[in-house]
Amino acid sequence: MNVHTPLERDTRQKLLRKKHHEVVIIGAGMSGMYQLHLLLDAGFDAVAIDKNADVGGTWFNNRYPGCRFDSESYTYGYSFNESILNDWDWKEMFSAQPDNYEYTQFVAERLELRPHILLDLKLLSATFDESKNIWILKFDDGTIKTCQYLITALGALSVPTYPRLDGRESFQGPSFHTFDWPHDPLDLKGKKVGVIGTGATGVQVIQTIASEVDELYVFQRRPNWCAPLNNRKVSADDMEQIRARYPEIFQRCLVSPGGFEHEPDRRGFFDLSRQERLELWDRLYDEPGFTILTSNFVDIWIDEDANAELSEYIADRIRGRVSDPDTAEALIPTDHGFGVQRVPLETQYYEAYNRDNVHLVQLLKEPIKRVSSDGIETSERKIDLDIIVYATGFDAGIGPFNQIEIRGKNGLLLSDKWNEGPITMMGMLTSGFPNLLHPVGPQSGGSAINFPRAIEMCSEWAAEFLIYMREHDFCEFDAQPEQEEFWYKEASRAQQRLLIRKAMNYSRGINHNIEGRDQPFERPLGYVGGNPKYRKFLTDCAEDGYAGIDLK
Ligand code: NAP
Repeated sequence: MNVHTPLERDTRQKLLRKKHHEVVIIGAGMSGMYQLHLLLDAGFDAVAIDKNADVGGTWFNNRYPGCRFDSESYTYGYSFNESILNDWDWKEMFSAQPDNYEYTQFVAERLELRPHILLDLKLLSATFDESKNIWILKFDDGTIKTCQYLITALGALSVPTYPRLDGRESFQGPSFHTFDWPHDPLDLKGKKVGVIGTGATGVQVIQTIASEVDELYVFQRRPNWCAPLNNRKVSADDMEQIRARYPEIFQRCLVSPGGFEHEPDRRGFFDLSRQERLELWDRLYDEPGFTILTSNFVDIWIDEDANAELSEYIADRIRGRVSDPDTAEALIPTDHGFGVQRVPLETQYYEAYNRDNVHLVQLLKEPIKRVSSDGIETSERKIDLDIIVYATGFDAGIGPFNQIEIRGKNGLLLSDKWNEGPITMMGMLTSGFPNLLHPVGPQSGGSAINFPRAIEMCSEWAAEFLIYMREHDFCEFDAQPEQEEFWYKEASRAQQRLLIRKAMNYSRGINHNIEGRDQPFERPLGYVGGNPKYRKFLTDCAEDGYAGIDLK
């Protein structure tokens, strides 16, 4: 727990003693902290409550080796505060977890948020009391609080999921999900380590520990398309230039579909010669971050043939980097195209497989039969291991909500309402759950790939909405059900336009580690129509006096 001084203890006691708040925000990560700042600034009696021992959310929890931003650091921080922009120096173009966690601490201090944050307190249930128009919140230590407005800032990827493997508990050595990587240093030297999962997290772990461990066994089910991160240090000169460009950078993020400063290439894919396409790709492959996606032709997101040609280009790049042709083929996805699922960005990931101590275990050919006390048995062999790392993903989007018993009008459970996938108004409100806002929640524009930009957009909308409620003497809001129908259709239309509709992973609600979740949700988990379009929905609603929301 992050309570060191008598003053901090005093603050905690004071916050615990206070039984009613105007607004309670659940979560003190990037989203919760910004929401708290906006509401305090607007004069609300607001508190943020987090089950973790410190602020930071994702960057507090994920401490696995190699964990870092996959988006340019300077577009992944907050944009709203001059003093933060002026005084925080990014060390790398794609900042590493320890620095990101420190950044969240720095922000909490700079905005003087700590006196308004309760840590180490886990929300178990939230029940709307219709007779009083308040939420009743119950926490794991027995604390009960009430609030007029409840805002969730739970993080989209905060519920890790483990494989349902026989014998998982019997393993005698250290074994953990990447999300729960031990906070104390773990010596990997001389160890035989197994990593299960090759999503963005697995890729970061594998490439980072390959040279450190004795033997590394990578248990891969479906390969993902990866592309180079092309990270580098940020020099003092770079930082000066970034600072000078901040207004321009954030303006560009505001108008680009993914919330990045890069603009897509709007030339018609098939209007150009193959040579011209190759020239663009050769250049983009060496550029930093998601440029290979965000500055590519628009057609690669929409047109099967365009996407297939790009995928083959990337496959060739992989073949050029992996010495053993069979291993190279095993690392190339054949069940989805490049960019259809979020692309893990890597640093020498493919080269890791050229090392003698790195072994690819192809689970589609030799499935895991069981975990034993000292290793993993596949259908073909027994692999002795000292440590098992589960990089097996998350119950994305709705998982964090399902962890809490959230009951709206007539005792309706949110997890029941979202059983077949989320159904929401603009990803911000859910009908039947009055006075609850879930900015950057399921079906919001938070699915734009630059998450912090979406966080700012959604949190600002939520704060302005509550200010409007106050100014107009309203005390209860609820989304109209037909708005949810509209949004379902709108989000489906956006998803259907893009090849992303074919993703077979968490982005469509699939998680084979959860019973009954082998097929994609029919309802979209996110809104993928792009940042500017999403912002327009939010702005239009606000300018129309929050049309579609019943206000009392
Ligand atoms: P993920 O993309 O869901 O990947 C999970 C991996 O585990 C997949 O390879 C999956 O294989 C495998 N897996 C799951 N259950 C398994 C089982 N029972 N047996 C064998 N393999 C199993 O999760 P993630 O890698 O944690 O990434 C999630 C998201 O977090 C990313 O897409 C990204 O948005 C974000 N992220 C971002 C960064 C960053 O750079 N900032 C870093 C890490 C993560 P299948 O595909 O076959 O199911």
